[in-house]
Amino acid sequence: MNRTLFIGAGGVGRVALLKAAQHPEIFDDIVFASRTVSKCEKIVADAAFPRDIPTEQVDADSVEELVALFKRYQPNLVVNLALPYQDLTIMEACLAAGAHYIDTANYESPELAHFCYGPQWAMHDRFRSAGLMALLGCGFDPGVTSVYTAYAKKHIFDRMDTVDIIDCNAGDHGYPFATNFNPEINIREVSAKGRYYENGRWIETDPLELKRVYDFPAGIGPKDMYLLYHEEMESLVKNYPEIRRIRFWMTFGQSYLTHLQVLKNVGMTGIEPVEFEGHQIVPLQFLKKLLPDPASLGPRTVGKTCIGCLISGEKDGQPRQYYVYNVCDHQEAFKELGAQAVSYTTGVPAALSAALVTGGIWRAEGVFNIEQFDPDPFMEKIGAWGLPWEETFSPNPVE
Ligand code: NDP
Repeated sequence: MNRTLFIGAGGVGRVALLKAAQHPEIFDDIVFASRTVSKCEKIVADAAFPRDIPTEQVDADSVEELVALFKRYQPNLVVNLALPYQDLTIMEACLAAGAHYIDTANYESPELAHFCYGPQWAMHDRFRSAGLMALLGCGFDPGVTSVYTAYAKKHIFDRMDTVDIIDCNAGDHGYPFATNFNPEINIREVSAKGRYYENGRWIETDPLELKRVYDFPAGIGPKDMYLLYHEEMESLVKNYPEIRRIRFWMTFGQSYLTHLQVLKNVGMTGIEPVEFEGHQIVPLQFLKKLLPDPASLGPRTVGKTCIGCLISGEKDGQPRQYYVYNVCDHQEAFKELGAQAVSYTTGVPAALSAALVTGGIWRAEGVFNIEQFDPDPFMEKIGAWGLPWEETFSPNPVE
């Protein structure tokens, strides 16, 4: 008997929970907890699971509360779909209660707009001594893009030279400004300085300084995309030191960027508390309150996402280009699980990763990134789970 505990009832948590519930042959038993238990109850009501899914309220910032919950339910695996702020507390509680751990985003402190794997990698020896596994970055990017890179190294290249991770959301939700996942995390990511890796060093750019136009497949066509720093680059250069250059690109429409610039100019994206009529408020948290809840965008979002890796390198002495990607339709995702494609493309790989860990197919002791495991079982199943992949050996280049 294995029991999986999911934490976080946002857009991503909804998709992961409902996708896992479609596979009772893998998940014997599921528990769902979040800060607002009514959100768990609403999601569970839509689950096609043949057994009861208990729901619980928990403050995942509190190790004590988490340990009490874990001791009560004794999960084998905890899937963290709350926010990056809770990674370390949930990992601590897993160590205390003897559960494996999965997440989709690396740790970030609420007070500092900076993220890196350091604090989570530092727990490697503790997980190893406890005989437990922590698997980091199991969404789409990081997650599927990391598996795509591992797959390319295993099957397509003898040596990878350059990797461009390209994330296009060509969806339209009809609002002048909204974010497709947690607004606070999204805006912190986009307003940060850009960074990419070349010839052994990291090169920093101003936020959104580097722009390219990329002609996307599946009828999406040309879109503006901008260089951002993204966490999977940190683990990929560590695990594949042969990579000479790695960059991450994300598409943004002009309306999104104009709104973001204005909000930044007037101080609404700040993370330092300001005093307002006797209260301390964090501008970005207040802005989050005003923006549409990403989980509510599903019914009104149309269009597609296209996320993948464009890799160059060498096979049998010959240069080679390779582009592997998924196209996901917002309305199809909504029809199946009641969520837009950004939540869908994150929650489905989290559920499949949980299935591979629960089934003992991916298993080791310590803290790992997803590309450190055999990509084949994941690549074999991810299409049937809802995110089929396509590949081409003559991709459009990133100029
Ligand atoms: P949401 O903000 O929609 O959902 C987060 C959920 O976590 C909410 O239900 C929230 O509770 C809950 N939560 C927040 N704080 C706590 C806490 N202290 N204790 C318990 N529960 C808490 O975010 P998303 O669903 O959009 O994103 C979830 C995660 O997925 C994030 O970490 C995000 O960075 C990551 N992500 C990863 C991607 C990838 O490809 N790797 C892509 C997109 C997202 P409440 O409902 O009360 O607010």
